[in-house]
Amino acid sequence: MKSILFLFISFIYLFASNTPFDIYKKETNPQEHTLLIIGGIHGDEPGGFFAPAFLESYYKIKSGNLWIIPNVNVDSIIANNRGIYGDMNRKFNTIDKNDKDILTVNRLKELVLEKRVDLVLNLHDGFGFYRDVYEDAVFNPNSWGQATIIDQEKIEDKFGNLSQIANQVNTNLNKDKLFAHFHVFNVKNTQTKEKDEQMRQSLTFFAVSNNKPAFAIETSKNITDLTYKVIYQLKSIEEFMNIMDIKFEREFDINNYEDVKSKVYDFGKVTINNNITLDLSDIRNSVKFLPLKKDGNKFEFSHTLAKFKFIENRYEIYIGNIKVCDLMPQIFDIVESPNKIKMIVDGKEIEIPFSSQVDIKNDFKILKSDFRANIIGFSKNGVDSEDDILIKKDDIQDVYSLDTNQSKYRAEFYKDGKFVGMIVLNFLKK
Ligand SMILES: [Zn+2]
Repeated sequence: MKSILFLFISFIYLFASNTPFDIYKKETNPQEHTLLIIGGIHGDEPGGFFAPAFLESYYKIKSGNLWIIPNVNVDSIIANNRGIYGDMNRKFNTIDKNDKDILTVNRLKELVLEKRVDLVLNLHDGFGFYRDVYEDAVFNPNSWGQATIIDQEKIEDKFGNLSQIANQVNTNLNKDKLFAHFHVFNVKNTQTKEKDEQMRQSLTFFAVSNNKPAFAIETSKNITDLTYKVIYQLKSIEEFMNIMDIKFEREFDINNYEDVKSKVYDFGKVTINNNITLDLSDIRNSVKFLPLKKDGNKFEFSHTLAKFKFIENRYEIYIGNIKVCDLMPQIFDIVESPNKIKMIVDGKEIEIPFSSQVDIKNDFKILKSDFRANIIGFSKNGVDSEDDILIKKDDIQDVYSLDTNQSKYRAEFYKDGKFVGMIVLNFLKK
């Protein structure tokens, strides 16, 4: 009886904890420097988690090592809340053993203290614009935005001259073209030991107290353009990498705003149960009657910040703190099938596997197979399986499109009442 009770309690406990975060290690040589980047400790500060997601997706490390945690506070990011279990960045000195963040905080502390980690960056969006003299309610010494934060001048370490390093980072950052002159970065020394009792609970103070160099990068909450924040965060991180001899290549031009923006809002794809793949960048707010299992559906996302939440019979899909869509299931038995479907697309016969997309200029026809075809938004009297019919875009009702541009439609395939797979029909713009 005792062991059953224990199991039950630990299940509840596990369930009540914050969702474990992800860590990505881009390593070249363990003898070289390692930078640990911690993003998303505050769930409503998107500069702090979209930037590390970018590092994970679009940077190649040529020498040195980069450890990236894009989404430390998973549950709070989905909730777009600073901390749904309280402020995680005030739990690094003392924490209650029943705190829902305790597993996350302990795991972070271990990572920070790992011998191989040479320097730690904690990424935020902070209020206002930090200035060392008071100008007004937004630009003043109590603000946090557009600043590199240090807890003290220095510690004893090869990267221990915190003040000098932070100033060097900002000097180089400010040399580049800023999107507005008042976006200039400054160094804020919180003098935590002497002056800031609250900050003695913070992650960076935990690090420097253990003689580990640590900084916070704060872009401003008053800058509302997420792309600006991501660019400023990345430029700061790149300066730290330069100081640490970590060499990198990126697959984009950081000074090309449109290029960065298109990547910030590329939400990638989700594959469900290996038989449906949906593009999340242009998906409708709500997709109805999606053939899914009653439970145990398997979601695989390409975006680092993608998570789902099952609530009141629907799956809410998130990229960071952005809710992308609701998927409303229609429950089926599901057979995972590696089969292909033969189609005639614009006059050419091709074979398309389930869980993929076919581009169509004018028309298509699904050829007869072992499966019953159902094209969502198309109907013809007396037809059970919608194959062997030549179909144009105008034959399908717009309201059934998967995407907001009314280009993508669903062809679903069934056998003996069980769902076997979907092909997305993508009509190219003329
Ligand atoms: Zn913060």
